[in-house]
Amino acid sequence: MDNFYRNAKFILSSPDFKGCPTDSGYEVVFAGRSNAGKSSAINTITNQKKLAKVSKTPGRTQHLVFFDLDEKRRLVDLPGYGYAKVPLKVKEKWHKDMDYFFLNRQSLCGGILVMDIRHPLQPFDKQMIEWSIATNIPLHILLTKSDKLSRNQAKQTLFAVEKELKEYEFISIQLFSSLKKEGLEEAHNFLDKMFELNI
Ligand code: GDP
Repeated sequence: MDNFYRNAKFILSSPDFKGCPTDSGYEVVFAGRSNAGKSSAINTITNQKKLAKVSKTPGRTQHLVFFDLDEKRRLVDLPGYGYAKVPLKVKEKWHKDMDYFFLNRQSLCGGILVMDIRHPLQPFDKQMIEWSIATNIPLHILLTKSDKLSRNQAKQTLFAVEKELKEYEFISIQLFSSLKKEGLEEAHNFLDKMFELNI
């Protein structure tokens, strides 16, 4: 279903959860610390150069951004986090909103957590993992920028992260590189499953 993700179209961006589109259909969220490579991953997955903004300024994106795939399926780019310059109050509000979102958003059916393979499982990644565990929402981890490591090092990191999370059946992990377009099929397969697309 690779071609399906090319349909992604920007619908709206909102500074808070109040501005979300109607809660129906299927939604998969993308989360990741600032600079992890989330925007690049969204662009790679949707095969579009500029759908999500790739920024060299960490933490610039503080909006939730919604993309329609079809009339009932959406991708959501969550604000980047873990950036020191974000005021504590903003972080606290974001935390509260995320609690609410994960617990109440009916259309939320899966999450993709983007981690820079060189800095996996940072505190905020663990927070995202906890939300997924608490709500049983499947979470797929992209260890991205895998091109920055040797094949061996990348595999070792993959095994280490898998080991750390092995008790959680609904968490899956893969290597990914937007630069080399590595791991695209696996990422699409996860999304196909979440969106209940018949392949
Ligand atoms: P975001 O803040 O998580 O959305 O991260 P971006 O997608 O804006 O990427 C941050 C930086 O990492 C940019 O300079 C990207 O070009 C770079 N980057 C993203 N993905 C990859 C990748 O797979 N490989 C390499 N080598 N660089 C990447």
